[in-house]
Amino acid sequence: MRALSDVRNVIIIGSGPAGYTAAVYSARAELKPLVFEGSVTAGGALMNTTDVENFPGFPDGIMGPDLMDNLRKQAERFGAELVADDVVEVDLEANPKVVKTYTDTYYAKSVILAMGSGYRELGLENEKRLSGRGVSWCATCDGFFFRNKDIVVVGGGDTAMEEATFLTRFARMVTVVHRRDTLRASKIMQDRAFANEKIRFVWDSEVVDVLGDTKVEAVKLRNVKTGEESELATDALFLAIGHDPRSDLVKGQIDLDEDGYVKVASPSTATNIPGVFAAGDVVDHIYRQAITAAGTGCAASLDSERWLAAHH
Ligand code: FAD
Repeated sequence: MRALSDVRNVIIIGSGPAGYTAAVYSARAELKPLVFEGSVTAGGALMNTTDVENFPGFPDGIMGPDLMDNLRKQAERFGAELVADDVVEVDLEANPKVVKTYTDTYYAKSVILAMGSGYRELGLENEKRLSGRGVSWCATCDGFFFRNKDIVVVGGGDTAMEEATFLTRFARMVTVVHRRDTLRASKIMQDRAFANEKIRFVWDSEVVDVLGDTKVEAVKLRNVKTGEESELATDALFLAIGHDPRSDLVKGQIDLDEDGYVKVASPSTATNIPGVFAAGDVVDHIYRQAITAAGTGCAASLDSERWLAAHH
């Protein structure tokens, strides 16, 4: 345990684009931020992908892990202290605020929450292996790579219909695979998808395997009613089965919305607890992009800097 006198200006929890950007800004403001990166997933969601073509400033695109490595180095260069450990408990109402890992206790005047969110996965071995090689969770990010290709979308909610409809801009054909025989999506989203001649549906079916050597070539489907298995050739598999904000750490302390996202006083990043700010996908269930996460990470750093100046 640290001495209670060792109180940080700002502790940042999370190491995606939001956390590292907050770290760059806080470090350049001479606040000497301490960043908890996570023990196994340091670098955030982009560590699981290949080309990122929509982060401004990289006209030729950049690999996801390289972008995160650059952001990390940039934060370090200005003096951010980076710790590859998980925060397992916090007391955000305390003064100073308490942040605990399994082995240590830290204190801070302000805290920035940037834990991100996790896309739900099917849980298949080959899904992981082919992630960024045809398996995707983001049509906005990756649709462009599949011009005139065949795409399978898994899901039956609004997001799945939105992604499927968006993907028809690029795809030759989009096949929506849904495990029931009706959709959960709102009527307007369903009508739009049903009316789109590039979208067809495979009902009562789940994807039980993703096939392909170095890229997606087909998916194996199982009909949940008959148990019959079949293969469907495809160039891409887009998963739209939901995502979960990583807000368990602060549940019961910070105001969350009904889906578990941290509530902030938009356009600021202030939460309901003074001195606690939140940024990136743990807040945002609308845009979910690296650049928007980085943008709110910047805002959270500036908000915390101003809060510190006013209160300490
Ligand atoms: P994350 O990137 O999720 O990072 C949060 C990180 O915080 C976690 O990974 C973990 O390391 C850490 N963390 C969480 N909890 C704790 C804790 N308790 N203690 C310590 N550390 C913790 N967006 C684009 O703009 N362009 C793309 O091309 C693109 N491609 C994508 C491809 C894939 C496969 C995926 C999954 C997403 C993609 N996205 C893309 C979306 C983008 O990655 C996210 O919007 C962005 O990473 C969100 O940033 P974040 O900082 O909020 O959270």
